[in-house]
Amino acid sequence: MSTPSNNSTSIPTNLLSNNRAWADRLRTEDPGFFLRLSHQQTPQYFWIGCSDSRVPATQITGLLPGEMFVHRNVANVVPPADLNCLSALQFAVDVLKVRHVIVCGHYGCSGIRAAMEGHRLGLVDDWLRNVADVRQKHAVHLAGLENKERQLDRLCELNVMEQVAHVANAASVQDAWARGQALVVHGWIYAVDDGLLRDLGLSVDGPAGLAIERANPAASQGAPLAGAGMTSEVAKGEVAL
Ligand SMILES: [Zn+2]
Repeated sequence: MSTPSNNSTSIPTNLLSNNRAWADRLRTEDPGFFLRLSHQQTPQYFWIGCSDSRVPATQITGLLPGEMFVHRNVANVVPPADLNCLSALQFAVDVLKVRHVIVCGHYGCSGIRAAMEGHRLGLVDDWLRNVADVRQKHAVHLAGLENKERQLDRLCELNVMEQVAHVANAASVQDAWARGQALVVHGWIYAVDDGLLRDLGLSVDGPAGLAIERANPAASQGAPLAGAGMTSEVAKGEVAL
């Protein structure tokens, strides 16, 4: 279904034929599927994830087109002044009225590693300043971990937690909560080497939940989610990040 072309300069006709086969299969299973989708989208979920090709949001959660609104960027960050991400968030909350916003990072993230190790990659260095700020904020905690790989994994987790806070602080999310709209913001992380999502143990369902609890050590080691369901409890407490 996804055999890459051997010649990188040729037209990727395999993608077009894959698409035709995929659409045919869906139509066979549900003849009215695309017609229904053409009228409206009513996703329950808004996903903010990394652009990494190994973390395709709808595939790893078993969702179909129309079920998840998606925004992806390098290292899954939600900078408070990024109009691209904030506009997608506002559209998801105000127009689509999603019930869940999921910030999902992943272990082994190249963007996180570059920010951690100070690699110079070019323009993206400016973008990764957002992650470098998280690293700096938690420098003492990270330095106390046993080795570089654990530090890297932890920074992937801390970055998700920080971005959950940014989402919860966004004006569109605050306004939604103020008018009583049901909306929960979650922090998850994905492991490329086993294909499983982990709940980082923090979810925010209102202004009071903005005091985000630090994910407990057990959660941060990553208990895989039991499927794509919303299994995490709403965490409320003091800001510990
Ligand atoms: Zn990544």
